[in-house]
Amino acid sequence: MSDTKKIVILGAGYAGVEAAKVLNKKFKKDNNVEITLINSNPYHTLLTELHEIAGQRTHKESVMVDLYSIFKATKVNVVRDTVNSIDYKEQVLTSEQGSYKYDYLVLGCGAEPAFFGVEGVQDNAFTIWSLKDALKIRTPVESMFEKARDEKDVMKRRDLLSIIVAGAGFTGVEVVGELFDLKKVLCQKYDINEDEVTLYNVEAMPNILPMLRPALQAKATNFMKKKKVDVMTNAAIVKATPDGIVLKDGREIKAKTLIWTCGVQGNSFVPGTGITPGTGKRNRIQVNDFMQSMDYTNVYAIGDNAWYEIDGKPIPQVVETAIQTGECAAHNIHADITKTEKKKFVLNIHGFMVSVGSHYCVAELMGVPMSGFIAMAMKHLVNLHYLWGVGGLKLIWNYLLHEFFHMENNRSFVGGHLSHGTNTAWLVLLRIYVGVLWLIEGIKKVQEGWLVAGNIKIVQVAGTSGASATEATEQAANAVVPILAQPPAFYQWFTDAVVAPNAGLFQFMVVFMEIGIGLALIAGLFTFFASIASLGLVANFVLSAMTGWDILWFVFAAIALMGGSGGAFSLDYYVQPWIKKWWKNRKFAQTSYLYFD
Ligand SMILES: Cc1cc2nc3c(=O)[nH]c(=O)nc-3n(C[C@H](O)[C@H](O)[C@H](O)COP(=O)(O)OP(=O)(O)OC[C@H]3O[C@@H](n4cnc5c(N)ncnc54)[C@H](O)[C@@H]3O)c2cc1C
Repeated sequence: MSDTKKIVILGAGYAGVEAAKVLNKKFKKDNNVEITLINSNPYHTLLTELHEIAGQRTHKESVMVDLYSIFKATKVNVVRDTVNSIDYKEQVLTSEQGSYKYDYLVLGCGAEPAFFGVEGVQDNAFTIWSLKDALKIRTPVESMFEKARDEKDVMKRRDLLSIIVAGAGFTGVEVVGELFDLKKVLCQKYDINEDEVTLYNVEAMPNILPMLRPALQAKATNFMKKKKVDVMTNAAIVKATPDGIVLKDGREIKAKTLIWTCGVQGNSFVPGTGITPGTGKRNRIQVNDFMQSMDYTNVYAIGDNAWYEIDGKPIPQVVETAIQTGECAAHNIHADITKTEKKKFVLNIHGFMVSVGSHYCVAELMGVPMSGFIAMAMKHLVNLHYLWGVGGLKLIWNYLLHEFFHMENNRSFVGGHLSHGTNTAWLVLLRIYVGVLWLIEGIKKVQEGWLVAGNIKIVQVAGTSGASATEATEQAANAVVPILAQPPAFYQWFTDAVVAPNAGLFQFMVVFMEIGIGLALIAGLFTFFASIASLGLVANFVLSAMTGWDILWFVFAAIALMGGSGGAFSLDYYVQPWIKKWWKNRKFAQTSYLYFD
């Protein structure tokens, strides 16, 4: 029998991806361990941002993280497949495509909506627990506005323009937030008065957002009310029909669109495979302190699949739980294989952040309550932090593109200020002009003898300027008022200690850079880096107290040129795609995620 240990992780959600990453790190150099990550989609879905998809704020690519690129340079074998049965005794998973043997199994299949047996909900409501769900909401919501535009009957028009979001946990409130932003966009598009649209947020409990403190609940409620959302608490839904809902107290609310976010339970696939979920645990698998299932010690359950109680309360089904259970299971599998000590699960929730539309957020981070701009900024930072851990700079850049630079209808907390693109062809003349100026500067220095050995001009020699005494007098006559009266202390030290003893070399470097930047900008080759170098040289001139205010326009020109000026009528246009492709296939780029698609 082979000694190779096969670890199979089922589900590449937040928990599964974390488990795979940790296991990869621990077994990177161990050829006796195989790690397989099976997921029904080729991407990891950023579920926490699904409301943005449902509300047409961002495109679907913004929540899809390609699994193959995350794990390309690792020993994790990503398999796209949907497993439909598990034989725990034989240690094998089966799908329509084949079967997968395992020695250790990690169940990270996530959750699904819970309907609590409420009549008609399953047939008449949209849910939001997968990318598919979120995409399904977009077109019908918009088509209601389209139909309403042509509907003359006032009552029918009102029903078409009424939307109920059932549930006011973080998913419900975030969906409502997107809908009031979307309402504005669709009303403009279909020429509808915004006052005709009614948004309901219906919650059975006395308060919305139960995981937040009352002051933040009140802030979120007030903000929604300001946006004309009808927030209804203590309003349990007992029936849903194609025309609306019925509440426990007998009230009926008419609406053609119902979005159900009321509850969540473990993915029913998992208990369906025969493992014991435990009673009353909503399809979640009872695990011990090490995230092992109670039935089989080589089967672990993580994320939304796991049921684990702390002080009599189950761990919440949120991202931090998923990541921490994934890490714990991975650690303990490693401990089991290497016969080292297992560790008990410790939950450490840092807080919750709930966006209420694209411009407002309420959050509690490490016990600090916050709202508005700061909370929204924190939410983006936390998302960026997560993406950095999963896929580095590449994912960060994608996020910035989707959330800011390509945002439509100003639906970002900084409005549309970052999303107005310019055609880079407008920058071509500026690029060439700046390039020519640098080239002239460089050539002038060559003519002045900067490359002649012993002809030191870059630093002062024996009490005069670097130039000869006559030149110094001429320069004094033409002198401009420098930005700095004298170099700052650190720069003076650098000049004396580093530049002066190597003046010839530094002179050569300055000339080389000026001519190089000039040629690069004229040809449009490596324009971004040439622009950064341009900034560096200008900073150097300013710090050496040699230059006046007029040079500052170079700074602003360089910043403008960094914004893709190499994209038109340039060598970059041809060279960059080739370099990108070549670089993307380098092992270093793949392991460090230092590449863009
Ligand atoms: C709209 C929405 C908003 C949310 N907002 C927040 C928030 O703001 N903050 C927060 O902390 N949490 C939030 N959550 C909850 C959070 O997303 C979940 O707790 C988290 O995703 C759980 O991670 P997981 O890895 O257990 O499961 P998931 O992320 O659901 O991943 C499960 C994976 O398993 C795969 N899978 C399932 N069955 C199979 C099978 N049979 N074969 C192969 N693959 C399978 C699925 O395709 C999926 O990729 C939100 C959830 C939703 C839906």
